[in-house]
Amino acid sequence: MISFDNTKTAFKYKSDKELKRALWLFKLMANPTINSLGTKMLATSLKLRLPVIGLIKGTAFAQFCGGESIDECNQTMDKLAEHGVQSLLDYSVEGKEAEEDFNRTAKMVSKTIDISKANPSVPFAVFKLTGVMALSLLEKLNDGSPLTEQEEKQYHFAIKRIDKICKKACSLDVPVMIDAEESWIQGAIDQIVEEMMMNYNKESAIIYNTLQMYRHDRLDYLKKTHRHSQVNGYFLGMKIVRGAYMEKERERALVNNYPSPIQPDKEATDRDYDAAVEYIMENLAGMSLCAGTHNEQSSDNLCGLMKVHKIEKNDPKIYFAQLLGMSDHISFNLAAAGFNVVKYVPFGPIKDVMPYLIRRAEENTSIAGQTGRELKLLSEEVKRRKQA
Ligand SMILES: Cc1cc2nc3c(=O)[nH]c(=O)nc-3n(C[C@H](O)[C@H](O)[C@H](O)COP(=O)(O)OP(=O)(O)OC[C@H]3O[C@@H](n4cnc5c(N)ncnc54)[C@H](O)[C@@H]3O)c2cc1C
Repeated sequence: MISFDNTKTAFKYKSDKELKRALWLFKLMANPTINSLGTKMLATSLKLRLPVIGLIKGTAFAQFCGGESIDECNQTMDKLAEHGVQSLLDYSVEGKEAEEDFNRTAKMVSKTIDISKANPSVPFAVFKLTGVMALSLLEKLNDGSPLTEQEEKQYHFAIKRIDKICKKACSLDVPVMIDAEESWIQGAIDQIVEEMMMNYNKESAIIYNTLQMYRHDRLDYLKKTHRHSQVNGYFLGMKIVRGAYMEKERERALVNNYPSPIQPDKEATDRDYDAAVEYIMENLAGMSLCAGTHNEQSSDNLCGLMKVHKIEKNDPKIYFAQLLGMSDHISFNLAAAGFNVVKYVPFGPIKDVMPYLIRRAEENTSIAGQTGRELKLLSEEVKRRKQA
């Protein structure tokens, strides 16, 4: 049993000022009215080009992002590495639709692969398919709708971009994780990622897909993909998460009158999350796992399973992953115990990472669950430092 209560270890890398800012920020986010008003006002202010960038940079951006550029992230990555926590550079620019934006993102991802190759504390690269190809194209591919001539061309360029990233990752032996997104594009994402895995995971898991266990069909998909990988002779890389778009998914299903892809309740999501992790642990010969979670129980379960299966704590096939600025008590206590831990370090121009920041704020609205826990731990550490 891992103890996640050690706040001294959890927040060692934060100065007193950073700790107090985090406490203030989580208090604000925990208030649903302030949170909802604040995020709407910030989004509007940015659209109206009001001077709010400085405000965001000193608060939410400083808490949840590494910087606006890769260079600006170095300090954060070094600090994490000092305490045994590794980093993953996540170019978090979202919502772009132009070919030049997709090319820019692909270049940036390629740069993060070089950095990973050169820096042992950066074990992975990561990207979203919607960062390198149009959402509308993914929607059409997902539906099986015919593409126009123009879309065929866009598809061709998109696959070329994705293949170039994956080929480079394979040649430099740098694993790359591909994020999971909304269910109405995920089928198309799965198909592309499977193709990349077949091509580049011949010797080890280089390309990772992501499974959202809040979907009731994902456990079956995991088993099906595993069989496919065995038949076709490639390794599976899987990041397992619960899923970030639950409300949006349920709402869309309701409005469009189709069965919701989401589990009926949290218990069902938790059950499938545990089952997926257990399945991978039982079949680790052909798979690698990244457990992307801020859930203490899930993290502790995986530590227990590793012990049962006699797997070394630092086995490169198993990583625990959390987002920068969240659940430091899990990341730093796991790292102190010798496990592989990686933090997503998002970066990009402030106005372009706003969708990411808004998701973090929305995720932290409720005093219940994770936010309540963050607040409690931050308060305890502020108090502990005062008394020390
Ligand atoms: C490193 C990392 C990478 C991530 N990558 C992705 C990604 O690629 N794609 C993505 O979609 N998300 C991603 N996420 C976000 C993740 O999916 C979750 O939203 C977030 O981590 C909260 O889940 P949890 O396991 O930490 O904790 P918990 O607090 O235990 O679980 C909360 C989650 O449970 C589910 N849930 C809550 N209530 C219900 C309910 N009533 N019915 C059914 N399910 C419910 C939801 O998924 C909710 O987010 C990532 C998270 C991390 C830490």
